[in-house]
Amino acid sequence: MLPRVPVQPRRIEQYRGIADQEVLEEIRSLARSLKGARLVHVNSTAHGGGVAEMLYTLVPLMESVGLQAEWRLIQGDQDFFTITKLFHNALQGMDIPITDEMKMKYLAVCEENASHFDGEYDFVIVHDPQPCAMIAALEGTVYRKAKWIWRCHIDSTYAREDAWSFLKAYIDRYDAVVFTMKDYVKSPLAVPHVAFIMPSIDPLSAKNIIPEKRVQSDIARRYGVDENRPIMLQVSRFDPWKDPLGLVDCYREVKKKHQNVQLVYLASMADDDPEGWHYYQKTYKYSAGDPDIFLLSNQQGVGNVEVSAFQAMATVVLQKSLREGFGLTVTEAMWKRKPVVAGRVGGILLQVEDGVNGFLVDRIEEAAEKVCLLLESPETARRMGDAGHEKVRRDFLCTRHLLDYLRLFRRLTT
Ligand code: UDP
Repeated sequence: MLPRVPVQPRRIEQYRGIADQEVLEEIRSLARSLKGARLVHVNSTAHGGGVAEMLYTLVPLMESVGLQAEWRLIQGDQDFFTITKLFHNALQGMDIPITDEMKMKYLAVCEENASHFDGEYDFVIVHDPQPCAMIAALEGTVYRKAKWIWRCHIDSTYAREDAWSFLKAYIDRYDAVVFTMKDYVKSPLAVPHVAFIMPSIDPLSAKNIIPEKRVQSDIARRYGVDENRPIMLQVSRFDPWKDPLGLVDCYREVKKKHQNVQLVYLASMADDDPEGWHYYQKTYKYSAGDPDIFLLSNQQGVGNVEVSAFQAMATVVLQKSLREGFGLTVTEAMWKRKPVVAGRVGGILLQVEDGVNGFLVDRIEEAAEKVCLLLESPETARRMGDAGHEKVRRDFLCTRHLLDYLRLFRRLTT
């Protein structure tokens, strides 16, 4: 058996009054027709990154509406995760050739994990490239009787041809695939069902409940951040696509005008992302001992409550991504009524309406200019924050996400 990730129960009724009533009603009616369906989500990490974040909510919510839902993890060694991160980077357009050696190692680990796959399911939902090829090793077995769904969370618009075509041979074996945006489907797929589903946040998770003011102050003090001075915040893994060095450049531009500004960068080191420490070191060096730059991670005890507290204390939230499958951190900040200054890329375009609930930027100077504008105009910041909150309530809550999954399950069974 692949190891199972334990999750805390959730009840769909808890979302009454937060999510739209029509959404809850449709969930109830669809769930009735899917009652008892067995499903498993498979991915490569229970910590760090957006996929794990969402599964902690979606899995218990699926259970709460009458499905039998599980979450299981594939296992891999350091080499495997280095290779899958290279795939990830190549799929996001980085110039990384995919060698035969990489393919062989990747396939061997997928096969090994497939040999531990067990259990009877109606739906198997495989997240991202790491476990994608497992399906090939299970062709012809009883496990393949389930409907297999591949859920891609990354921005593959600019995928390198070799990486995409290698993976496509496996994607094409699925019964359905799910992308966040149409643009991410690099070339036509031979899959019967292609769906587009946007990610979501859980308004009731520790990540999204705003801690009391006193708790916020304690957290700021613990990390040496001055909550009475402006805070520019970015919450992301240390990853080239999150542009940590560009973020420091942006802060330096802002600092020329606003000497009291601080930059807080919160990162979680994901188990399946071996690049984290390398980019942390690079960013640390680049910060050159600036006492107003705070690079903090889960290693220093930054967990959900701390992330939420800093998002609540931030004056402006940045997401200076160069590629972004979706950017849950943007959604989380908008939910907390924060104006966001974010790269004009990928899934961020689904969330940030330029000039309405935040600003979309292409260049560092432009990002700095928008941050200055928001520091100088709290009224604009407040108006944008309110608009962002309502946008998330309408479009990016876990209840809508659950509904989209139920609709897909129905499509696959009728
Ligand atoms: N995150 C966190 N602690 C950190 C950094 C990130 O909990 O120190 C969470 C963040 O709040 C968000 C997720 O990790 O929920 C990142 O998801 P996103 O879609 O922004 O990016 P990904 O890492 O999936 O590319």
